[in-house]
Amino acid sequence: MKLLVTGGAGFIGSHFIRHMLAKYPDYQIINLDKLTYAGNLENCKDYAENPNYRFVQGDIADKKVVDELAAEADVIINIAAETHVDNSIEGPTVFLETNVIGTQVLLEAAKKYGHKRYVQVSTDEVYGDRLDGSFVETDKLTPSNPYSASKAAAELLCMSYNRTYSTPVLISRCSNNYGTHQYPEKLIPLFIKKLLAGEKVPLYGDGLHVRDWLHVTDHCKAIDLILHKGKVGETYNIGTNEEHNNLEITRMLLEILGLTEDRIEYVTDRLGHDLRYSVDASKIKSELGWAAEVKFEDGFAEMVEWYKNNLK
Ligand code: NAD
Repeated sequence: MKLLVTGGAGFIGSHFIRHMLAKYPDYQIINLDKLTYAGNLENCKDYAENPNYRFVQGDIADKKVVDELAAEADVIINIAAETHVDNSIEGPTVFLETNVIGTQVLLEAAKKYGHKRYVQVSTDEVYGDRLDGSFVETDKLTPSNPYSASKAAAELLCMSYNRTYSTPVLISRCSNNYGTHQYPEKLIPLFIKKLLAGEKVPLYGDGLHVRDWLHVTDHCKAIDLILHKGKVGETYNIGTNEEHNNLEITRMLLEILGLTEDRIEYVTDRLGHDLRYSVDASKIKSELGWAAEVKFEDGFAEMVEWYKNNLK
């Protein structure tokens, strides 16, 4: 099988390609990535020379480059996106260009070449927040910020292509990922970077915003399962209910690094900040046999060690 994977120089995309190359030695993978500030070819350096792997720098919203690469591929896995909520609040336009128009360009190519499968990697953030309970796949999408709205819009386009053109789309909605190789703008790598540099960490509001944390490799295994065993036209939540608020995550980092709470600086909250995300992942567990394998405490400690050695 030949896969066109987008966003493979980013956090999740680079882990996904590593996972696929190791697990399926006869698969060929094209990594299409624009190399925005968040993309880094260092993330792919351990498999850059693999004969089954090829990197192409380009934009998923560029019809010409997408058309050329899609012509060679059997399936598309769209992981590329603008992903930082704070940036989407400052300047939403690029989020629409990449996350919505880019998705439409890829869908058009999947339609043209009759691809076997098109997997859209989406996010639990499309549901918006809730204080208790968990969202199931059929719940309404009520995104709170331009990032999650652009991801929700992309999902709706995918479903419309499925209904109108029978494009074989599958959608995943995963909770917050933690792990190595993440650009240091998101909470965990940003805070580690600042703590290692002797700086304070800026914690939004009261720090009590809750996220469900999943190790990035468990997310990649779920995408792999959805690609191979998922039912076309279906959406799958991915999560573990490993809930921690941002203050707890910060305290864990301080403890591992042997630092104290005076390194926390409480700052004005993000506009429209979602209080808690939570998805019910029963469907992917019961229908596709997915289960998270990495124990949170183990994955977290290993991750901090990696950033200590690799953050520049
Ligand atoms: P990231 O910001 O680390 O990486 C995004 C990658 O996409 C980068 O390599 C970037 O260069 C590339 N890219 C951006 N615009 C592009 C364009 N127009 N054309 C081609 N490439 C482009 O993001 P991530 O955290 O790895 O997230 C990947 C996907 O997973 C996103 O779709 C995101 O919505 C989803 N997701 C992320 C999380 C999380 O916790 N990080 C959780 C659930 C879902």
